[in-house]
Amino acid sequence: MFCTNCGEQIEKPLISVKGEVCPHCGCVIQTCETPKGDPNKNGKAIASLVLGIVSLITWLIPLFGYPTSIIGIILGVSGMKSENKGMGIAGLVMSIIALVACIANSAIGAYIGSTSF
Ligand SMILES: [Zn+2]
Repeated sequence: MFCTNCGEQIEKPLISVKGEVCPHCGCVIQTCETPKGDPNKNGKAIASLVLGIVSLITWLIPLFGYPTSIIGIILGVSGMKSENKGMGIAGLVMSIIALVACIANSAIGAYIGSTSF
């Protein structure tokens, strides 16, 4: 039998309080179809949170605000699938707010620029 989570062959499953566990990845065999949050995405959730905070500061400068908020949104979507779901969502929300503020900022800037002469 093969583990549905990591794909390794299971010759002898480990027995834990949760039931039979894959000796390679540690997931419970009966629930391997719905594995826990992807640990590879935990970093993305944290990065998204950091970028969200940074973009809330940098939205005043569109040159920095656009890339930080857009990358924050992309990482936030990814980070939502991790164990740090809350961090990913927080990062995503902050990045969206920053992006909207950034767009509004450049729209107002363009409007002022076009009417001041
Ligand atoms: Zn496994």
